[in-house]
Amino acid sequence: MEIDFEKLIQLQQLDMEIRELTLFLDGIPPQIEDIDKKIEESALLVAAAKEKMTGSQKKRRELESEVKDIKSQTGKYKRQLNEVKTNKEYTVLLKEIEESEKRVDRLEETFIAEMLLEDDIQKEIKTAGQKHAETQASLTKEKEALSRKKRETEEKARVLGQRREGLLPTITADQVNLYLKIFRKKGGTALSPVKDDFCALCHVRVRPQVLNELLSTRKLILCENCGRILYWREQKDEAEAEAKEAEAKAD
Ligand SMILES: [Zn+2]
Repeated sequence: MEIDFEKLIQLQQLDMEIRELTLFLDGIPPQIEDIDKKIEESALLVAAAKEKMTGSQKKRRELESEVKDIKSQTGKYKRQLNEVKTNKEYTVLLKEIEESEKRVDRLEETFIAEMLLEDDIQKEIKTAGQKHAETQASLTKEKEALSRKKRETEEKARVLGQRREGLLPTITADQVNLYLKIFRKKGGTALSPVKDDFCALCHVRVRPQVLNELLSTRKLILCENCGRILYWREQKDEAEAEAKEAEAKAD
């Protein structure tokens, strides 16, 4: 089989770029999920503070109603004082009144403590609310940037996909099939350049006889170790590849 190295290398290059873009795109949904989770968490802090406030207000209403009940009972005791017949009854009633008033005092103290607590809760609500607004604004921006990047990447992938579709029919079917077979088996790289007498991908030395064949023919030669299609990387290719790598890093 005569190998059209230039085209297979192009195909390999396109497949690698497409795979990189696909990996990037796959990473976007979890990142968006993560951002949504953070927004939700900051909203929960506001909700929790508000709930605390509701709880405290409810407790105060209960205290108020309890105080009202006790005061009404105390009123009854006081009216009864005028109707009792014995000293003993009178003393019992006085004792009841005294106890009730003490209870009212305690409940009113709790009521005031709860009111003071609500001042703190109010501050907590305000702080959490501000923080949530800031978090939401900055995370929403982050999300928008991600969506932009996603659209750009999808477009890039689409263009590369088209280029690949255009390239495939120009390579013979047996070469494409061989390429795809090795591509799948080798996790996305079917070709390996020989660099300084070594297979650049598995780093095993290429025998001089194989090297000579590679330099003189366009025959299919597979790396004896990793099974990838070997090709000779010219000095020119080398410089271009390095420039491309530098460009990719600068991106
Ligand atoms: Zn190899």
